[in-house]
Amino acid sequence: MPQAKMELRVRSVGPWPMNSYALVCPVTRQSVLIDPGADPDILQEMLTDAQPVGILITHTHPDHVGALDEMRARLNVRVMAHPGPHFEGLKLRADLWLNHGDKVRVGEHHLRAYHTPGHIGDIICTTIEGDERIIVGDTIFEGGPGKTWSVEGFHTTLRTLRNIVLAWPDETVCYPGHGPPFRLGDKRGAIEAFVGRDHSGFFGDATWEM
Ligand SMILES: [Zn+2]
Ligand SMILES: [Zn+2]
Repeated sequence: MPQAKMELRVRSVGPWPMNSYALVCPVTRQSVLIDPGADPDILQEMLTDAQPVGILITHTHPDHVGALDEMRARLNVRVMAHPGPHFEGLKLRADLWLNHGDKVRVGEHHLRAYHTPGHIGDIICTTIEGDERIIVGDTIFEGGPGKTWSVEGFHTTLRTLRNIVLAWPDETVCYPGHGPPFRLGDKRGAIEAFVGRDHSGFFGDATWEM
């Protein structure tokens, strides 16, 4: 039976613009809000004619959870996130911990979490089953991987790129926490070259070209 795809909505919010997303089941209108970073009124407007059933956190950096408490109070829905470790000192209260491979039903669709550590220990990507779109948070951007703060963190990113990101098909469309979406196949060559180079001792902001 052909199934109508989930509707994906996006708003750019906050002083250092980040992407808050909403996935909406077109049949039941059930929806999940992803990364309530800032601007609760804009996020609420994004959820017009949707029926929120959850808030999903890609990772706990402050720019991605700035409006979490406010949106949790407004929507009164369960919060879903990876069990961590979370951003320094953050006491995240989640109602459902998502580990690698866990699935969540939203209307007639299923979301699935992929743990993709490196940028931070609690980052997850969210796939929609039977759909080429993936919400990647700050795991990867069009221009490079998410920033790292230690050599160990960067090595973890390289492992995530090799084992998880490069295993996704070319037609995958990645929706990052900042900036525009991109097709994975258009970046595959650059990512493969990046993980193949010697980056010994490196951590920080990286581009695929370095
Ligand atoms: Zn981040
Ligand atoms: Zn971010």
